[in-house]
Amino acid sequence: MTGGMFRLDEEMADLLIGYCRERLSLEDVPLDHPGDKAALAAALDGLVNEHGSDVRRVLDVVEHSLAPAVISCDSPRFLSFIPAAPTKAALLFDMVVSSASLQGISWLEAAGAVAAENQVLALLARRAGMPEGAGGCFVSGGSAANLSALAVARDEGRVRTGRERVRIAVSEEAHSSIGAALHLLGVDPLVVPTADHRLLGARLRDVLDGDPARDDVVGVVATAGTTNAGMVDDLEGVGEVARGREMWFHVDGAYGGAAIFSTRTRGRLSGASRADSFVVDPHKWLFAPFDCAALVYRDPERARRVHTQHAGYLEVLHRDASDAWNPSDYAYHLTRRARGLPLWFSLAVHGTDAYGEAVDAAIDLARRTAELVERTAWLELVREPELSIVLFRRRGWDTDDYERWSRRLLRDQIAFVVPSVWEGEPVARLAFLHPGTTLAVVEEVLATTAPPASDVP
Ligand SMILES: *Cc1c(COP(=O)(O)O)cnc(C)c1O
Repeated sequence: MTGGMFRLDEEMADLLIGYCRERLSLEDVPLDHPGDKAALAAALDGLVNEHGSDVRRVLDVVEHSLAPAVISCDSPRFLSFIPAAPTKAALLFDMVVSSASLQGISWLEAAGAVAAENQVLALLARRAGMPEGAGGCFVSGGSAANLSALAVARDEGRVRTGRERVRIAVSEEAHSSIGAALHLLGVDPLVVPTADHRLLGARLRDVLDGDPARDDVVGVVATAGTTNAGMVDDLEGVGEVARGREMWFHVDGAYGGAAIFSTRTRGRLSGASRADSFVVDPHKWLFAPFDCAALVYRDPERARRVHTQHAGYLEVLHRDASDAWNPSDYAYHLTRRARGLPLWFSLAVHGTDAYGEAVDAAIDLARRTAELVERTAWLELVREPELSIVLFRRRGWDTDDYERWSRRLLRDQIAFVVPSVWEGEPVARLAFLHPGTTLAVVEEVLATTAPPASDVP
């Protein structure tokens, strides 16, 4: 009966909607554990077969084997990498996007979805200080956004300079996805040394002035919130150098770009107003579900020239161009789910002030954590946090000690904290963004670094 799988099975619907409702209503999301390959294979064995398995059996495997082997990045105790904290409104609307197969490829097919997504992109552009007319699309992540923006930078640079080989300036601290994108694009990086881990306009100018082949440097990438330490480059200075030399100015704010919503910290990002392209990942610090990155161009027409795909059956998308906006024209993609809509819905029901407060709360927690670290004799603050990431050392610990500590924290379900590296030395790193992460959680984590009582003088 092929028709069976296209009819709604009421029991299956109740089970799955019930599961979602329960997960959404959990006060305390369990952190969960790393997976065991053999145990996972055993649980999955035979589940996908010719005839299908009973839905209760499949859900049982999900609940008891698969879900516990996924560390919950939306737990307030997930403090590694960049956590997640999607709003309930955004998660619920994500189910609407799925249930209604809401796609956002073109204006012809999906004007309603695209119009709402564009409302959010315009808001982000305005907050970043970009001019009226800025726009773009939502892609799967910061990596895809960086690749798509840098493809435009490369192509424009090639046309402007008449050279096939062009370079793009980056800082030593740029995100790994920038290097990966340049590699895919066949563009060599011009690595600019940082001053105290920050890319400065003056440094960029010096490096360019000292490089006889500088005319092939067609763009520069600045980071608004490094992933390791949450540091914001000198966006004003770098943007000014870029403008003076007709270089494409790309601002990677995948993590820290959300600070455009902060009342206190948004000034640090004022130079983003000079960007030719600006990226922020709502699936990071703007409380949207995966996967969602916003890519905004100062002049979207420049991106359209690079990314529009042509085919006999696609030309209809570009025919009635007057007010058509095709997200497929602004990045390397064609089919796409309307992944900006969960953020749009959540912004619509909660308002932008709530977002500002939630972003500020993480920044405040980072500051209070830094104070706590400074007051703790056996800890040492690496530097004042600029956004919501705190790096610190435990005096006397080596890499193995940090790793043992990390495993113990996860085993005891206190927190998920993986060590990082700063200037070649192992450090502890706490990344905040979940509004449920309290100072009490931080105190609990820091208490586990205490030396045994006998060691305290
Ligand atoms: C996370 C991050 C990226 C990559 O984004 P994904 O969504 O993981 O692809 C790029 N740049 C910075 C600064 C980031 O923090």
